Amino acid sequence: MGKRLAEYIWIDGYQPTPHLRSKTMVLPADEEPPIWGFDGSSTLQAEGNASDCVLRPVLTVADPIRGSDSQENILVMCEVLNTDLTPHASNMRHACQMLSEQYADQETWFGLEQEYTLFCGSRPLGWPSHGFPAPQGGYYCGVGADEVHGRKLVEHHLEMCLKAGLSITGVNAEVMPAQWEFQIGPLGAPQVADELWIARWLLYRCGEDIRYGPEGIGVSATLDPKPVPGDWNGAGCHTNVSTNKMRESYEECIAAVEALRERHEVHVQGYGEGVERRLTGQHETANYKQFSAGVSDRGASIRIPWQVEKNKCGYLEDRRPNANCDPYVVTRLLIETICGHGS
Ligand code: ADP
Ligand code: MN
Ligand code: MN
Ligand code: MN
Repeated sequence: MGKRLAEYIWIDGYQPTPHLRSKTMVLPADEEPPIWGFDGSSTLQAEGNASDCVLRPVLTVADPIRGSDSQENILVMCEVLNTDLTPHASNMRHACQMLSEQYADQETWFGLEQEYTLFCGSRPLGWPSHGFPAPQGGYYCGVGADEVHGRKLVEHHLEMCLKAGLSITGVNAEVMPAQWEFQIGPLGAPQVADELWIARWLLYRCGEDIRYGPEGIGVSATLDPKPVPGDWNGAGCHTNVSTNKMRESYEECIAAVEALRERHEVHVQGYGEGVERRLTGQHETANYKQFSAGVSDRGASIRIPWQVEKNKCGYLEDRRPNANCDPYVVTRLLIETICGHGS
């Protein structure tokens, strides 16, 4: 009997920003991944004297790293449960799923723009070992070894996401050198967030294998919202959102903006550690202390894309979420506010 390898991936209990963890199960080739467990005392999810936590598979995709040609190796995104199978306190997916089901009739879609910064050792990849690169300007969507750093990893990650069957729709170099973005969606919640967490795992995993510099150090991606202080762009996770009514009516889009205005503080608090370091009012952000919205406005909390105003229907871009946000929390808050207003 052949074997298959299942890489179980989950989110740990670190605060304020949880990390990804994973471990491998060897399965008979014809078996689906079962419920599994782990030592929660090593991930801030349990005490040592009652350390067991439960992993329940929520999304299984082909494993593009180990390959799925000769044997069906898989990546298994999991949610964490207590041993009585209730959701663990660190499990943000459960509430997202409940709310999404409650408002299923509104058919919410999300498109997530994940920005990240590549580091080699303690410096952003390709930055000089002393001092700084030339000021921002030529790097966004740039080409050439003097403009962008790390494309080998970016291309490899894109290929891996496609092989895994994720809904990745694009990648681009960002405003700060060594900063990049990929987009996932549009999809419903919590599936869009399941896919984003797998795509993040693939990014970290691919970085282990691509080596730069004379010492051949691996490349680490960070989701730090402001990896370099000063006159350098932060990293966000712009979240594009629509309901079926918004996809047909501009009034519904504007009603959603007004509902978001009412709950600005609640959203900002759930949008990732260090949001106030990034949402300064500079570098294409609106200050976190004040809500704003505008057509084509990249200095606003909410941007209404120009085609949406022109077509009088579509979606909104919430520019506030940090790169290090939990997409289960962000999509849950957006459903709560946009689908729940008036009810
Ligand atoms: P930006 O101009 O902000 O860089 P991107 O092209 O990076 O925009 O991302 C736009 C995102 O909007 C994509 O992830 C796409 O999936 C998403 N999107 C497009 N239409 C919708 C929609 N109707 N509802 C939700 N998201 C959408
Ligand atoms: Mn983008
Ligand atoms: Mn971007
Ligand atoms: Mn954007």
